[in-house]
Amino acid sequence: MMESCKMKDSLSSHLSRREALKILGLSPITAELLFSHTEAEAAEDVKGKIVIVGGGAGAIMALSRLLRSIKNPDITVIAPNDIHIYQPGQVFVAAGEMQERDLFLNNADYIDTEKVNWIKDEVERFDPKNNQVRTRGGKEVVYDYLIVATGVVYHYERIEGLTKEDIGKNGISSVYLSDLAKGTAQGGPITWRWFNDLKDAAKKGRPKVIYTQPNTPIKCGGAPQKILMLSADYLKQDNLAADYYFCTANKKLFHLPEVDAELHKVQQRYDKIENRFSHYLKAIDVKNKKATFIHAYEKDVYDEDFDTHEKVSVSENVVMDYDFIHIVPPMSPPDAVVNSELANDAGWLEVDKFTLQHKRFENVFGIGDVCGIPMGKTGGSARHHGPILVKNLIEVMKGKKPSEKFDGYTVCPLKTQYGKIIMAEFNYKGPAPTISFLSIEKPRWMWWFFDLYMLEPMYKYLMLRGLF
Ligand SMILES: Cc1cc2nc3c(=O)[nH]c(=O)nc-3n(C[C@H](O)[C@H](O)[C@H](O)COP(=O)(O)OP(=O)(O)OC[C@H]3O[C@@H](n4cnc5c(N)ncnc54)[C@H](O)[C@@H]3O)c2cc1C
Repeated sequence: MMESCKMKDSLSSHLSRREALKILGLSPITAELLFSHTEAEAAEDVKGKIVIVGGGAGAIMALSRLLRSIKNPDITVIAPNDIHIYQPGQVFVAAGEMQERDLFLNNADYIDTEKVNWIKDEVERFDPKNNQVRTRGGKEVVYDYLIVATGVVYHYERIEGLTKEDIGKNGISSVYLSDLAKGTAQGGPITWRWFNDLKDAAKKGRPKVIYTQPNTPIKCGGAPQKILMLSADYLKQDNLAADYYFCTANKKLFHLPEVDAELHKVQQRYDKIENRFSHYLKAIDVKNKKATFIHAYEKDVYDEDFDTHEKVSVSENVVMDYDFIHIVPPMSPPDAVVNSELANDAGWLEVDKFTLQHKRFENVFGIGDVCGIPMGKTGGSARHHGPILVKNLIEVMKGKKPSEKFDGYTVCPLKTQYGKIIMAEFNYKGPAPTISFLSIEKPRWMWWFFDLYMLEPMYKYLMLRGLF
């Protein structure tokens, strides 16, 4: 009894409203009831034409917040897609816990064409010097302020020998595979079939399975390991195992030491995972099931003549056989961004990592995965970008300097097994757990419950509406 009182006290003194919502659970109905009454009148009386390019998580979060903040705003959205995908659910589809049809959201529910001009097209060219963009359909759209929210594109074609049609055949899968234009997120169901094919193979022998992670930034940096650990656990449930190889361009499992150490510990559950760091997939021989990796590393070279040691960059090809392979494609912003003056040298939107304002064009801001900033490409980051971006944009519209600062918040829900997640939350400074008294590295069932059952309604009813 004492114990439970103590626990209650400590909980109430630690819990913020946000934390409480997470723990208590938010059904769609409670979410609507709670928040329909707290809507404030849009108060900011600022003028100017705002163009938002994109129709995914970041664009919609920015739009909802702008509509809530600015009186009679003049906003144009340029996005070709009628639907968008609840992408965190793709991993759950791959693991057989959700259905592909659960992932689709109707953009018309969020882009109210009575208040907003929606051009259903893609931007083909950004011309920030003249404050205009051109669409594929040939429309020139001028703006006073621009928000770039195009996300990233997948480059399966950069893996020699691979075509998208190969995915789902010959032991190849990729959870990321999706096609917004066709309204499919087929990577999830393909990977679930792959889990089951792998299990069938493990009943007959010991398959060799490779999981890849490319040498570009990727959205949801944890997804390659989520697929590794969930598929290994799926086999383990039937006392089956395989030889698992995690081939990643990174040098560690995770950049935070406590999470990295825990992931190594978790890997011991599965017999046996071999990590191949600094390896990224270059080519694949689909017919003969051979994958060629580039192993890029630094070697210490001794020069006898001068008696000195020198670090030399080495890049060698490593060919590996496999029975099954899960491929994560290289990623980049779409060409329209990469080839524009808005891009940095690596092709990403060149925004300030704190204010999200473009470094050279003051009337341009970014949100979501397209931003060339050092932290995370996640929906969780985009949610934190939203309020910062909107406040800073309004300040610029008032002729002021942007003062709000993004702290780098990113969240990576690492599924270590069915029923457990490490909720790795961090920012530019280090660990940043939302529930401050819980260590970030511990796998917990409550995070599985939260991620599988609560996050999707929160995304749909709160985050996309700019309420959370
Ligand atoms: C498998 C997987 C698992 C994930 N798991 C998680 C997770 O657990 N937690 C988490 O927080 N995040 C997760 N994410 C990441 C998260 O979904 C993304 O970070 C988030 O969707 C980024 O939003 P965005 O708006 O930047 O991009 P997107 O949501 O991808 O939207 C980009 C939009 O831009 C449009 N567009 C592209 N080019 C143009 C153009 N030229 N003109 C006009 N429009 C254009 C597209 O049509 C699209 O509408 C996951 C992602 C994947 C794929």
